[in-house]
Amino acid sequence: MYLLSRRLLVLGLLGACGRVPAVLSTTEAVPEAGGGGGAPAPARAVARPSARVPAADSALAPWLAGFRARAAAQGIGEPLLDAALGRARYLPDVVKAATSQPEVRRSLEDNIALAASDARIRVGRAKLVEHRRLFDRIERRYRVEREMVCAIWGHESTYGARKGKTEIVSALASLASAGIRADFFERELIAALKIVQAGDVALDGLVGSWAGAMGHTQFIATSYLAHAVDFDGDGRRDIWGDDPTDALASAAAYLADAGWRHGEPWGVEVDAHGRRMDGRAAPDLPTVQLLQPLGEPGPRFRVYNNYKVIRRYNNSMAYAIGVGHLADRLAGGAPFVGPFPRDGEGLNLKERKEIQRRLRALGHAPGTLDGVIGDATMAAIRAFQRSAGLAVDGVATRALLQALRRAG
Ligand code: CA
Repeated sequence: MYLLSRRLLVLGLLGACGRVPAVLSTTEAVPEAGGGGGAPAPARAVARPSARVPAADSALAPWLAGFRARAAAQGIGEPLLDAALGRARYLPDVVKAATSQPEVRRSLEDNIALAASDARIRVGRAKLVEHRRLFDRIERRYRVEREMVCAIWGHESTYGARKGKTEIVSALASLASAGIRADFFERELIAALKIVQAGDVALDGLVGSWAGAMGHTQFIATSYLAHAVDFDGDGRRDIWGDDPTDALASAAAYLADAGWRHGEPWGVEVDAHGRRMDGRAAPDLPTVQLLQPLGEPGPRFRVYNNYKVIRRYNNSMAYAIGVGHLADRLAGGAPFVGPFPRDGEGLNLKERKEIQRRLRALGHAPGTLDGVIGDATMAAIRAFQRSAGLAVDGVATRALLQALRRAG
């Protein structure tokens, strides 16, 4: 039931300001934000691929005229509407990002490698030390483990380094006026204006990713209104500034509101008999699901209540496994054991990392040594192939690995 093909697992685990749109697999339903039952809205917008042709710039002005009346009816004041809508621009790149498929399709294995990369673990552990007193207070207040809050921070904005600089009003107006989930993005735009009207942030400071997620922990506006907190007590709920205090506490508050249980794991990696791979006893908790997302062969996970809670933050299986695993690694846990299937070229993650390492040793620039064959690695492969007199295609294959071994 939970077998997803690698092809379907096209999930932007990096968060990273929506650079990689979180495209839904066909087997994962995503509820609309602000769903029923008092459930917290997803913290991040999820872009739904659309067959629509992006509307031209000319659609924005008439849409804004209609929106103005609807926003005013919901209590947004005229001065703010003048200021906000007067400067709204059509952002073609935003509409393009929402309507196109990502170029690089990543497997779950790649996503996990990126989610809990060595660099992300190293920086995360340093952040836990740097902000130890803050995490103490947050964990005491919201009863959410510091490593989980830190892992979300790492995923969503690379610990605040990539919060996004897109003007939110223009982005949301562009999407809604182009007819892309128009109701959803209009609701987010009204919520964003309410945030400004409440004095939490100036209009100039209302920036984030193209799909409307903002700040250190990439909250969409409706999630902000429902869950963000002023943890440093200065009267403003600031998730945008350099100081992550309010943002981290807000992420913890979100998870607490969604039913987080302190002291319980999100899940554990298990073998075919359901036993933990690390040999320890499985937690005495009701199992929510047994996941084997890559099929056979592939890693298996037994997941619990907190897995569902992470999915309330971002409703993606790969996100939940990736962020949960990063939290475990930040707490000193071991890497996943697998087995992971090989890619279409017969290479596993370790071998793809070896390719990158050898390229770098030969003076090429494959980018981060994360085992993901992206643009930089492909360019480095082409450079190596040219220098070695091989056919130049930039593809990471077993033959390439062997050529690199001979060259090194
Ligand atoms: Ca504050």
